[in-house]
Amino acid sequence: MRDVLIMPGAAGRCNACGGKLNYRGLGEYVCEECGSLEYDDYGKVRAYLEKHPGALQGEVSRATGVPANRIRSLLQQERIEIASGSGMFLHCEVCGTKIRSGIRCPACEAKYNADAENRKKLQRVKPDISGHSIGKDTGPGQMRFLKK
Ligand SMILES: [Zn+2]
Ligand SMILES: [Zn+2]
Repeated sequence: MRDVLIMPGAAGRCNACGGKLNYRGLGEYVCEECGSLEYDDYGKVRAYLEKHPGALQGEVSRATGVPANRIRSLLQQERIEIASGSGMFLHCEVCGTKIRSGIRCPACEAKYNADAENRKKLQRVKPDISGHSIGKDTGPGQMRFLKK
């Protein structure tokens, strides 16, 4: 699961002097000792897109050294939003509409959230029939599922 974690430079140390890096937010780290800035994958992509709005995914990948699939997963985590007019697009996993961040388009996202609400309600209908601590020390676990 290495891909999920976003790590600063080598073990959180400044590449210039080896000092401790402090996270400044938005993928930027600053060295306690020499004040130099370091970027993690997110910071690199973000900084590049700030300077080159509308850059293509392949271009960003080449310029930052961050693999394209990594950029894509950052987009899906909504940590980066694609500038309007960019050639970089994601597609809604439900209807295929072009989207700029996340996994679903706003319409499908709303529907998905509504469905999730419904699922929660359905779960709530099933009451907790075990009362409290029935069968805790009195026998096998199956005891608690016996019908009254
Ligand atoms: Zn340093
Ligand atoms: Zn959609």
